Amino acid sequence: MTVLAGARIVLPGGVHEGDLHISDGVIAEPGTPTATDGTTDGEVIDVGGRYLVPGFVDMHVHGGAGASYQLGRPDEARRAAGFHLCHGTTTTMASLVTGSPEELATAVASLADLAADGLIAGVHLEGPYLARARCGAHDPALLRLPDRAEFRELVRLGRGHVRMITIAPELPGALDLVRDAVDAGVIAAVGHTDATGETSRAAFDLGARVATHLFNAMRPPHHREGGPAVAALTDPRVTVELINDGVHLEPSVARLAFAAAGPSRVALITDAMAAAGMGDGDYRLGVMDVEVRGGRATLVGGTSIAGSTITMADAFRGAVVGAGLPVHEAAESASLTPARALGLDSRIGSLEPGKDADLVVLDDDLRVVWAMKRGRRVECPNSR
Ligand SMILES: [Zn+2]
Repeated sequence: MTVLAGARIVLPGGVHEGDLHISDGVIAEPGTPTATDGTTDGEVIDVGGRYLVPGFVDMHVHGGAGASYQLGRPDEARRAAGFHLCHGTTTTMASLVTGSPEELATAVASLADLAADGLIAGVHLEGPYLARARCGAHDPALLRLPDRAEFRELVRLGRGHVRMITIAPELPGALDLVRDAVDAGVIAAVGHTDATGETSRAAFDLGARVATHLFNAMRPPHHREGGPAVAALTDPRVTVELINDGVHLEPSVARLAFAAAGPSRVALITDAMAAAGMGDGDYRLGVMDVEVRGGRATLVGGTSIAGSTITMADAFRGAVVGAGLPVHEAAESASLTPARALGLDSRIGSLEPGKDADLVVLDDDLRVVWAMKRGRRVECPNSR
């Protein structure tokens, strides 16, 4: 039994001051007997009035600390996941940008092993069936039309760990692929798309349940043609991803998304690439060259934003400080909402009894002090 004493515990309904009890890596019922009353052995950690928030769940991230998931290399995947874990992401997907058929197959097969080991929650295929007009930082030469045989093979290689695919629903055959994904238990996400609202709604009606980085790399809303963004925001079945880094979206647009969909349908993501945690410099995203200047990642020789350099802790803090959300609603968008979108909310996503003790201690400035995964404190290079 471990007790985190004197905490501001951030629960789905609000912030409660008290102690959090952990037993065998799982959050226990409040009031469970502890060492403090002499009835059991246990460790008491004084949290000193800091915030305890549920561990962050990042459903869209490509890498960090100079490492990328793209080639499926275990050492790089461990470095990226370890970096984000130290910044509070206790559950992470591994996102792959558009690659050649061989590259994606190799990466998926390798990442499936790491998912089976619990390092990552699964693989997110961001592409390769995306709109040329909205390709963002994806190599347009590698984009292809929906290929049901290729997708079926990737699902097979993933052995249950390909959890999500982003598709442009207006491409020929895309709606069939949405149906295939749903049938295979893979979350279909609408993104990198030039679709109309009508086509987007058709994808949602077929079971697509996520909008990939809402507003970014999709046809912008017009008042007579709302496009994918308005279709997603107005559909109660759909979770919208938001890159809340102050670069991808104007703050008022982020506020609009929260006002329209609420924290239960807005999932904060990082969309971080290898440069996260590395400072300015030159990097790669898939086959594309990316330069980071002033924390802003763009394609070399272009203006497309190429992923972010933030952590989920930055996204969380931005939701409170920039978008004005109460702490418990920001925590919902950083943890419970993405957990629910991934079908993992029975185990993670909130600090409620019976769930894994995945949590983050934050100071008054909402900066990470330390993190815990399944009841074990995470060792980090500069943990305090
Ligand atoms: Zn991405």
